[in-house]
Amino acid sequence: MVLAGVGSLFAQADPEWTESFPPFHIAGNLYYVGSKGLANYLVTTAQGNILINSDLEANVPMIEASIEKLGFKFKDTKILLISHAHWDHDAGSAKIKQLTGARYMVMDADVPVVESGGKLDFQYGSTPGFLYPPAKVERVLHDGDEVQLGGTVLVAHLTPGHTKGCTTWTMKATEGDKTYNVVIVGSPNVNQGYQLVHNDKYPQIAADYQRMFEVLQSLPCDIFLGAHGAYFGLEEKYARMKDGGANSFVDPGGYKEFVAQKEQDFRTELAKQTLAAK
Ligand SMILES: [Zn+2]
Repeated sequence: MVLAGVGSLFAQADPEWTESFPPFHIAGNLYYVGSKGLANYLVTTAQGNILINSDLEANVPMIEASIEKLGFKFKDTKILLISHAHWDHDAGSAKIKQLTGARYMVMDADVPVVESGGKLDFQYGSTPGFLYPPAKVERVLHDGDEVQLGGTVLVAHLTPGHTKGCTTWTMKATEGDKTYNVVIVGSPNVNQGYQLVHNDKYPQIAADYQRMFEVLQSLPCDIFLGAHGAYFGLEEKYARMKDGGANSFVDPGGYKEFVAQKEQDFRTELAKQTLAAK
């Protein structure tokens, strides 16, 4: 994703972030309930549901409407997870917790950021437009931890760099006699203004990005998803899915290409910054 206005003092949200998108079934007990630009996923179980990402505060009524449109109850949201601690994925968390009573589970290194409403973010902590209501975390996750509900297991993979606790979620989705490996990418992006060398607030940032790419390369992926629809071609794949035929979200090749391209982007930027720092 391209962050508009990051270089300025004011956050300018991409209009697609708050543009509604039809909710739909992805595979098994996994559904898309996000906007055009910000991805949310609902995992349904007999013991209640898991929601991934809360988005901007303005998106919360839209997420609720999408869940209800699919025939599920927003109030059945038992667990709230995020892709990473940036306002476009977590600003609505306090509101969702208040409305549903969901337990908030966040990767260890992102916990101080979400609990401070973004103030402890290494990059945007003093940018007013990027701050939001703090939300208390009920369970601190560590790399490899499992989140279980009603027989469904999600695994939290620490994929740091974009934020210190950036999380890539994996699960299995069963559709008929097929079981798919689902990967929901946290974010591999180096945002505009990110300092990859001599970063006092995040000294290990470059090493963390490298680690993240190693993790992404190691994950088996059939169904390729992520924190923004643009990562995996939401609009185009949704249109193809509606036309019928094979599940367009099954895209192991697209996943590999995406990870390789993002790694190349990171290496180019790192080389540029390393040279400039000499
Ligand atoms: Zn982000």
